[in-house]
Amino acid sequence: MHKVVIVGRPNVGKSSLFNRLLKKRSAVVADVPGVTRDLKEGVVETDRGRFLLVDTGGLWSGDKWEKKIQEKVDQALEDAEVVLFAVDGRAEITPADLEVAEYLRKKGKPVILVATKVDDPKHEHYLGPLYALGFGDPIPTSSEHARGLEELVEAIWERLPVRHIETEPEVAGIRLAIVGRPNAGKSSLLNAILGEERVIVSEEAGTTRDAIDVEFFFGGQRFVLVDTAGIRKRPESLVEELAIRRSLRAMDEADVVLLVVDPFQVGDRELKLANEALERGKPVLLVITKWDLVSKEDAPKVRRLLREKLAHLDHLPWVYTSAFTKQNLDRIFREAVRLHELNHTRVPTSELNRWVAVWTSRVQTPNFKGKPLKILYATQPEVAPPTFVFFVNHPEFVTRAFENYLKNRIGEDLGLREVPFRLVFRGRRE
Ligand code: GDP
Repeated sequence: MHKVVIVGRPNVGKSSLFNRLLKKRSAVVADVPGVTRDLKEGVVETDRGRFLLVDTGGLWSGDKWEKKIQEKVDQALEDAEVVLFAVDGRAEITPADLEVAEYLRKKGKPVILVATKVDDPKHEHYLGPLYALGFGDPIPTSSEHARGLEELVEAIWERLPVRHIETEPEVAGIRLAIVGRPNAGKSSLLNAILGEERVIVSEEAGTTRDAIDVEFFFGGQRFVLVDTAGIRKRPESLVEELAIRRSLRAMDEADVVLLVVDPFQVGDRELKLANEALERGKPVLLVITKWDLVSKEDAPKVRRLLREKLAHLDHLPWVYTSAFTKQNLDRIFREAVRLHELNHTRVPTSELNRWVAVWTSRVQTPNFKGKPLKILYATQPEVAPPTFVFFVNHPEFVTRAFENYLKNRIGEDLGLREVPFRLVFRGRRE
């Protein structure tokens, strides 16, 4: 889901703005599991779609812009697509405003300057000094009188990136499979997630199988953990082979696979599980758990070693967490949503063929006895995983190297590196 974050010094009216935007459009507000109790999140429903709105107001202590606060705002902004910079439209600009402005400028994210408390149109004449903040036209709003909110929502949509996503994952729920070698920490992680009682909605037993699917909401998004019974059963009580079969089945039923990795036990098993998932067209999120056991000093070294051992999975997203401290637990769900959406990307045919022209102009296509391979056109008939069909004059001319070149271009130029997209070549007469 798109993410929009409100930032601004205390008392400018961030939380009134937050509540106003939410209340106007019937939204779900949920507490964020894990560390970030100081953030408020809610889903804003608009005519053009929905986005997640985050208020960082709870982070401030006093009027000071401290390092601690900044670090937390850093985190909140990491995957934000638009920032609402709230300033008091009736007061002078303060040093704290200037500090926040400077900070946001360095972040390089799209910023909308929101002047709050502009209850009366007459006040708009006094907004001139706000231009000094360097973020262009302020949008005058009043949470009290519900002024300027339509304009603000409009401005947000103008800045959100356009995506071609085909599902409404919020409605159907994103199905997650938790897999990993025995003792990787799967059941501890499951308990850490479910221990956050606030997020649990229901636990329903499957009727046709002894699998238990657990459903919960996070950030307004419905998730389903598939076959949690298979995770909770102690490894000793489950024959290894059965356990493997069970994880494969869970993968088949999932939208996104969480591969739980013990940082001190890494090897071929992880690669194998990841490949099983990717071959099934399921995006994989690497969840490195037990991170509480790694000291701050050792972290960079352990990270590097892990990256070396799992070099083949370097292009996938990684989250470092711990079932005990619950650090970054919320990241897991954010990344899962992002992967799910990415896996449902549909590239319009016209855009795809524009890229094909660029790609083929940059290299020499393979040829056979002087006759070159030609791509006549390409389409993407399927999502999850995105599947690209290239119609070519001679499919048998396609070399492994050329296929890899196309894979790299699709990964980079279409931004699909993290999901298991597929390529198909079909013959067509010229
Ligand atoms: P599973 O077989 O993959 O379900 O693994 P478990 O969840 O049963 O965990 C295996 C062992 O690792 C247990 O002794 C857990 O207490 C320990 N463990 C799991 N997660 C963590 C963690 O985040 N931090 C630490 N320190 N230990 C963990």
